[in-house]
Order: sequence, then structure tokens, then C-alpha cells
Amino acid sequence: MRDVGFFRSWLRAMAASVDREAAWLTELDSPIGDADHGSNLQRGFAAVLAAWEEDPPTAPGDALRSAGRTLISTVGGASGPLYGTLLRRAGKELGEATEVTDSQLREALFAGVTAVAQLGGAAPGEKTMLDALVPAVAALSTSYQAAARAAEEGALATVPMLARKGRASYLGERSIGHQDPGATSSALLFRTLADTAAGAS
Ligand code: ADP
Ligand code: MG
Repeated sequence: MRDVGFFRSWLRAMAASVDREAAWLTELDSPIGDADHGSNLQRGFAAVLAAWEEDPPTAPGDALRSAGRTLISTVGGASGPLYGTLLRRAGKELGEATEVTDSQLREALFAGVTAVAQLGGAAPGEKTMLDALVPAVAALSTSYQAAARAAEEGALATVPMLARKGRASYLGERSIGHQDPGATSSALLFRTLADTAAGAS
């Protein structure tokens, strides 16, 4: 069973990972975007931790919903509402339970990723975060490690893709040959989930 402490550890690890990789995420967002993905997520996840200091979450669903709200209100870019929706929707699925099972978490993340696809109108193959998120949630039924690896492979697989959604799509053919920043940060989200699960179990 996963309690609120697990979710706090996960998103604390995500905030630290985004801090470490911010320069790289921003570099990936330079040729096919506006060079702010790293700073957007750094600001967003730092705000998540700050909001939790003020008002500690009491349950898994509460932690994810509050993190999602904070991302939506603090990240100006496309990625804020998209990650915010993922976490809010997953949090809604988890309800008020003080402990959740791995299969409940898997279902919740699946619902969250479906909500991201609805909000952004994107599908896998269009060079977005969904190219990491969709294979990751599919692999969650195997293990957290498998999900992290699927997300990392999905992020790498965006390199030859033509962007069809978001800022990168304005470049058309010139978007080919670059790794998508959002897919890359989604791989960090699933890597930190796997690391947290490995540490906790
Ligand atoms: P912005 O593009 O507004 O500057 P960010 O740089 O923070 O926002 O995030 C860019 C990332 O957002 C992209 O790399 C892509 O993965 C993701 N993204 C953009 N638009 C969409 C969309 N419609 N659906 C899914 N993901 C998207
Ligand atoms: Mg950007």
C-alpha cells in the first residue's frame, strides 16, 4: 500500500530531478521551442513543495490534486496545464483513501494520461509528452521499472518524429532530429516513480 508519504517522496524526487536536468530540458526546448521547459518545470515543482509546506496533503489523492493545481497556476507554458491535468485527474481517481494499492495507482495514472491526451488533442507519434506517457502507463502493469524504461525509450523515439502539436509543430520538417523536451521530462516523472517505489518496498 502507498500512503501520502510515498507521494510526497515521489514528487520531491521529481522536483530534485527537474532541478538537476533543468539546463538540459531547456536546451532541448531551444531548437524546437522557446527554451523555457526546464525553468517552467523547476518553478512549478518548487511551488508544489512550497505549497505542501504551507498546507501538507493528508492523503494520496489530495497530494496529487494539490500538486496539479499548483502546476496549473504557476507554470505559464503548455506543460503546466498538461502535467497539472495529469496529476489532478489521477488524484481525483484516488479519492480520499489514506492508502492506495499499486493497481489503483496504475488505473489513476492511466486516467490522468488519457486526460492529457484529451486536453492537448494529441496522440502518440506526434512528438509530445504522450510519446513517453502512453507507453509508460501501458508498461505499469509489468512494473514501475518497466514503465520508467518505456518512458525513456519513448522520449528517445521522438527524435525522428515530425511535431504535430505545440510550438514545435510550427517548425514543420525542421522539428525532425530533435528530442521532445516534454517527453524527456515525462521520462523523469516515471523514473522518479520507479526509484521511489524501489526505495519504499
Ligand atoms: P511551451 O511550449 O508553452 O513553451 P513547455 O516548453 O513547458 O511549454 O512544454 C513544451 C512541451 O509540452 C513539448 O515538448 C510537448 O511535449 C508538450 N506539449 C505541447 N503541446 C502539447 C499537446 N497539445 N499535447 C501534449 N503535449 C504537448
Ligand atoms: Mg517551451
